[in-house]
Amino acid sequence: MPAYCDVAVPVPLDATFTYSIPENLAEPCVGGRVIVPFREKRLSGIVAELHDRKPEFKAKPILQVLDTAPALTPELMQLGRWIAQYYIAPIGEVLRTMLPLAAEFRRVIGYSITEKGIEALHEAATVGSSRRSQKEPEHQMQEYRVLNRLADGEVVREAALRTSTGATRDVLKTLLRKKWMAREDLSDVRDASRTVQVATLIETEPAGAKAQISPACDGAAEAAPLRNATEAAPLRNATEAAPLRNTAEAAHFQNGTGAAPFRNASIRLNANQQTIVDYLRVQPDKSATLENLRTLAVPRTTLQTLVKRGMVELREEPAGFRMSGMKPRKLEFLFTPAQKAALETIIASVDERRFQPMLLHGVTGSGKTAVYLSAMQAVLAKGRSAILLVPEIGLTPAVAADLHQIFADEVAILHSALSDDERAEQWKRIRSGDCHIVVGTRSAVFAPVPDLALVIVDEEHDQSYKQEETPRYHGRDVAVMRAKMSNGAVVLGSATPSLETYYNATHGKYKLLELPERIEKRPLPEVEVIDMRDEFQRTHKDAILSRRLLEEIGERLERREQVMVLLNRRGYSSFVLCRSCGETVQCKNCAIAMTYHKREHRLICHYCGYMRPAPKTCPKCNSEYVQYLGTGAEKLEDMLHSLYPQARIARLDRDTVRGRDDLERVLSALQGGDIDLLVGTQMIAKGHDIPNVTLVGVVGSDAALSFPDFRAAERTFQLLTQVAGRAGRGETPGRVVLQTFFPDHYAIQFAAAHDYQGFYEKEARFRSWMHYPPFASVSNVVVRSSKLEEALAWSGILGKWFQETRLPEVRVLGPAAAAIVRLKTEYRYHFLIKSKSREKMNAALRAMTEHGLAQKIPRGNLVVDVDALSLL
Ligand SMILES: [Zn+2]
Ligand SMILES: [Zn+2]
Repeated sequence: MPAYCDVAVPVPLDATFTYSIPENLAEPCVGGRVIVPFREKRLSGIVAELHDRKPEFKAKPILQVLDTAPALTPELMQLGRWIAQYYIAPIGEVLRTMLPLAAEFRRVIGYSITEKGIEALHEAATVGSSRRSQKEPEHQMQEYRVLNRLADGEVVREAALRTSTGATRDVLKTLLRKKWMAREDLSDVRDASRTVQVATLIETEPAGAKAQISPACDGAAEAAPLRNATEAAPLRNATEAAPLRNTAEAAHFQNGTGAAPFRNASIRLNANQQTIVDYLRVQPDKSATLENLRTLAVPRTTLQTLVKRGMVELREEPAGFRMSGMKPRKLEFLFTPAQKAALETIIASVDERRFQPMLLHGVTGSGKTAVYLSAMQAVLAKGRSAILLVPEIGLTPAVAADLHQIFADEVAILHSALSDDERAEQWKRIRSGDCHIVVGTRSAVFAPVPDLALVIVDEEHDQSYKQEETPRYHGRDVAVMRAKMSNGAVVLGSATPSLETYYNATHGKYKLLELPERIEKRPLPEVEVIDMRDEFQRTHKDAILSRRLLEEIGERLERREQVMVLLNRRGYSSFVLCRSCGETVQCKNCAIAMTYHKREHRLICHYCGYMRPAPKTCPKCNSEYVQYLGTGAEKLEDMLHSLYPQARIARLDRDTVRGRDDLERVLSALQGGDIDLLVGTQMIAKGHDIPNVTLVGVVGSDAALSFPDFRAAERTFQLLTQVAGRAGRGETPGRVVLQTFFPDHYAIQFAAAHDYQGFYEKEARFRSWMHYPPFASVSNVVVRSSKLEEALAWSGILGKWFQETRLPEVRVLGPAAAAIVRLKTEYRYHFLIKSKSREKMNAALRAMTEHGLAQKIPRGNLVVDVDALSLL
């Protein structure tokens, strides 16, 4: 056994740490987790190297070995090292991000039943309910539920006990006081993935009913073959006419239950409860993991209600994996020639087993998703693996359900709403080699699938792929590197590719696959640009909505077609201004004007979340002349309500969508025709496929063009093109009314003409002149501190170093106050670093962080953002 190991510990330091390996421990392995002492703490780290080189200091021993087989495969370790190197990120923090197994020392309390408790339980059973129902019935019910749960003598963790019985802390306290239950300290290294929670349906059924239950998915869904898929709410509409989920699920449940309601006639179930009951009824042992239940798009509280009613039982099981018993299904798409050609190229690249990056550039509605799904099926058929990355907003419960229907047990879905335990469970399933298909947001790029053949990045231009905290990696770029390391194919898909990607595709680095037309020859929507300066001159009114847009909305509503209106600003009023002193009300933590939210009747900071009551007088000078100015989506919704009182209007933004279920609810209401008009921020622009939307209005969404950000034009072009792409996806052609104060700006003009090529060429010329990506690399270095003097002094130290150090081919701008000089209570100064040579930029940044450390600038206060997307 080697004497030492170097461990990557999750701390903001660009180094690994050497520990000795005591004889009495199991042998650790590279890529496995160990517990080590680190500055008075115990931390879980990853072994980066095993060796016999005696360090100069006395190495502390590791405390515990958690994995004797690598948790991170050699391939993933290599990827982690690359990320640490490329993004100048601490290796320990990188590896922690890649491995969602939250092993840590945690205080865990467990409970077991005592002799006295068993007696009490027996007594209660014989006495019956008459005596118990007198005082505090719910409290007592809970006590007996807890005792029942513990009756078989095992020790149950507090969290599990409380979720399965609904008991409050008070109830547990009472039981301890009565000595009916004992408490045990289970504190240990908590390894989140040892157990999973399983829900089981408890029902009494008439004899014979069981025989009707068919174990697997039915034939009915296959009988309705899938037609062509539009690129859809990323995946949602793999089918068009009949959404896959509905057909398959409906048939599935009818087979299983004979469409009978819950058999206990005295219990009425609401739709959500019925969904869970129906689902469980057709599962093996009538049981499913909570993770699987969560794909049903039913609120969490529904399950708790069923547990309380005694219809569903929850328990913990060892994390062996519950299979649904379903088989992946073959999809039949009617492809356009372009789709077919793209698919064939992807499959051929996969078969070559060498690194091949591709850009799938397809206009909105051209059926990219169908190509992805078919390519993934082809990979699966060969027994190999594929990863599909989707933007945050794309992974709704319905999409997840569709994926389960298509790929059955072969798919693992990783979305941001998973708890740590659920994430760990999915990760273990993947690591065990049981799933060959992984679909998820950014971090799914680290999924430990076997024999990775294909990585797909849907909407590759989407900003949510960039992580805005350490490690600040770009999921798309890591995907390309991962494919390279596994000799796989990688497909970046978008209607509006980023400049970087399109540049690579037109300079021979990536293969370019194009879908130039919408499926079924549907036309792209006609875009009408309204000059709002002209509108003001004619009406002398500072209106938010132009007369043209109002007219068009009225027409659609009359024809019972659906409308979307984009206003990319949250809240009611964007700022509160005092007419007396001229000040806006600013956040106390950030140098940013606060936004008025009417529903909450509060001002909210969109950067740190700080809230305060809406002021009647100026907080600075007490003047009563405070004005609420600027229009956000909330106010626009109000205005539309009063303009079209008969219309059913909903809003989609981060204030109305708190969880995945909210998004799902609004989208299915829109799909089902229960909403006439949807107002929202950029959330409405992202991939939703609603056939009856025939008009898209764009309001005040060109403000970004005046931001001091070299990506402003690109972002505006992308947003406008994407939102325009929501119109006319069904039988009726769509129309877009685009209001702007910059009608001559090329981003507006090319978006109106659906001319990506034209936009790219113009934008590329500008980037080339200015030495911006893709012609140079840009990194942002932010020095931050809660003390202004520190932030100033440290940025001064680095500024001096940059001046004195000869950095060949590296240009440094700054230090300058960041665009938001104070953010989340920290003062911020920054440097913009540009270079045509990535290696030289990387070397400069590395030397700078070393100098910073030598000058006692804490590593955590020096943020290095390589390939920065946000320069705020
Ligand atoms: Zn004032
Ligand atoms: Zn703030």
